[in-house]
Amino acid sequence: MAIQLYSEHKVYDCTAQTFPLNSPFYLFFSFPESTLNFKFTSTILISFCLFLQFPSRKVEMGLTSSLQFRRRNNKTFLRIFMFLVLSCIPGRTNLCSNHSVSNPKDLPPSNPSDIRSSLVSLDLEGYISFDDVHNAAKDFGNRYQLPPLAILHPRSVSDISSMMKHIVHLGSTSNVTVAARGHGHSLQGQALAHQGVVIKMESLRSPDIRIYEGKQPYVDVSGGELWINILRETLKYGLSPKSWTDYLHLTVGGTLSNAGISGQAFKHGPQINNVYQLEIVTGKGEVVTCSEKRNSELFYSVLGGLGQFGIITRARIFLEPAPHMVKWIRVLYSDFSAFSRDQEHLISKEKTFDYVEGFVIINRTDLLNNWRSSFSPNDSTQASKFKSDGKTLYCLEVVKYFNPEEASSMNQETSKLLSELNYIRSTLFSSEVPYIEFLDRVHIAERKLRAKGLWEVPHPWLNLLIPKSSIFRFATEVFNNIIRSNNNGPILIYPVNQSKWIKHTSLITPNEDVFYLVAFLPSAVPNSSGKNDLEYLLKQNQRVMNFCRAANLHVKQYLPHYETQQEWKSHFSKRWETFAERKHVYDPLAILAPGQRIFQKTTTTTHSSPIQLSKSKETGSPQRYH
Ligand code: FAD
Repeated sequence: MAIQLYSEHKVYDCTAQTFPLNSPFYLFFSFPESTLNFKFTSTILISFCLFLQFPSRKVEMGLTSSLQFRRRNNKTFLRIFMFLVLSCIPGRTNLCSNHSVSNPKDLPPSNPSDIRSSLVSLDLEGYISFDDVHNAAKDFGNRYQLPPLAILHPRSVSDISSMMKHIVHLGSTSNVTVAARGHGHSLQGQALAHQGVVIKMESLRSPDIRIYEGKQPYVDVSGGELWINILRETLKYGLSPKSWTDYLHLTVGGTLSNAGISGQAFKHGPQINNVYQLEIVTGKGEVVTCSEKRNSELFYSVLGGLGQFGIITRARIFLEPAPHMVKWIRVLYSDFSAFSRDQEHLISKEKTFDYVEGFVIINRTDLLNNWRSSFSPNDSTQASKFKSDGKTLYCLEVVKYFNPEEASSMNQETSKLLSELNYIRSTLFSSEVPYIEFLDRVHIAERKLRAKGLWEVPHPWLNLLIPKSSIFRFATEVFNNIIRSNNNGPILIYPVNQSKWIKHTSLITPNEDVFYLVAFLPSAVPNSSGKNDLEYLLKQNQRVMNFCRAANLHVKQYLPHYETQQEWKSHFSKRWETFAERKHVYDPLAILAPGQRIFQKTTTTTHSSPIQLSKSKETGSPQRYH
């Protein structure tokens, strides 16, 4: 653990910083060190022998010897003693190192070129690169450009552990941090490490995906594995994970660091609810296996922990039998109350759909025609008569899983569920597609956008978790007055019931059993002006946030991004102290996931304070990013 000491306004970090000879701590700490060598020990013994002879000399000179003479002799003795002691100790001592006496050339390097050389000298199964850093300098959000110093392409867990230990050894003399990078689909630089080391988790592929069938089937995967690959592999055994994200080209480590929420979350909880065991490399470089029963504090800290406590190198994920097909249904509402009442009704039932989501349609005219390419209207004559007249509409999207032999019972159940709802009858659209095609649906949209050059544009996304008690006020103001159109991207809205969710993960949610995920997912079109440009969209997000704050809606951000200490504190609210304490335990130097901007690595060059955990209100928060 790093210890920081203060002396004459200088900060000395015991993990790496050595004490200069003029430091007042020098003698105090160096004396009891086991580092003292034989030469030094003998010098002390000789000095004490000299000291013991002193009184007899004094007697010889007679008791009349002046006090002055005694003082002068004492001083002389002390000088000789100090000289002998100091001459026996090498120039510097690393007080907290395991190595007793460090040679100046063993000191951790602190300038970038020396750090580079030190990284190259690591004994790894994978490799380190310096020339492709631009690939890791940005993310899907496409708004930040922060190149790292190096990229680690790990082949094994021990590569990651060695790298972490090395960065810990560099200690506070360097500002090198580490970001695990999954698929880089963060939005505000969360997977970046400016001038640090980015660990490309997708390189960590071994051992392969391993599936265990049986009563409680599960799959073991690398933290850098993409969910789409897990799906393809588990389907070979007729199995599948239970909880998903809407898009599957994301890594296990990336989504488990957040939550992984989609239309199955009301039933199975988010992805972080469906993990049996994790292997973690902590911020100290230790490799730890954890689960509900074993190292449970680390297990729950990491789940939804925004990458702050460790790097997920392996995960064991629960599976269930996979269906072959899904019935995919969309219906429209013009009244928000009816829409949300039906959504809440569906998620409260035991026998219900397998997936419940929804989205808002503001000022879009051609939407139903777009749907027709993949969905057929139940009654095409009625559907063709439907006119939205520029009204704000709400689309309920539900799915029922089935195998071909169960088609008729599935259709009966589906009809029964639909009969309980109050949608506009002429707007029932449905489709039957293979399970994998449904789950991988956003990838199809991605291909189309890529073809138009609209995938790698800035994405000023905003994801909010809104308590059920606030959703009507939110919808009324935001969908009628703040957002004028959503031609630049979807707005998702659906409720989840967290009564079945695990409570003690690091994920922060509103304080009510039922809350809504509302996701504004626009793309800022380059060279456009007005409603599709980045500035406009960012201002719109700001207006939404300002309204939530002013109306005191108790909204929480999902995939949170904050700039100030106060914002992070109020995000975590009562759980801030625990979050910060755990950070102190598992990543005391604040090396991990700097792009989240929660904690800032303390460096001796910045002379900033260390992570301190005081119980006092004023000083109780660790040092954070501003
Ligand atoms: P990255 O962006 O690479 O990393 C995210 C954070 O996790 C970083 O702080 C990083 O340091 C950390 N991290 C990465 N790997 C590890 C690891 N192995 N161990 C520890 N920390 C790690 N989210 C949902 O919940 N539901 C959705 O439906 C959904 N849909 C999305 C659709 C699209 C098109 C996009 C772009 C994002 C979507 N997201 C969704 C958000 C997504 O889940 C997060 O942005 C997620 O972090 C991205 O995963 P990634 O592998 O790209 O992680």
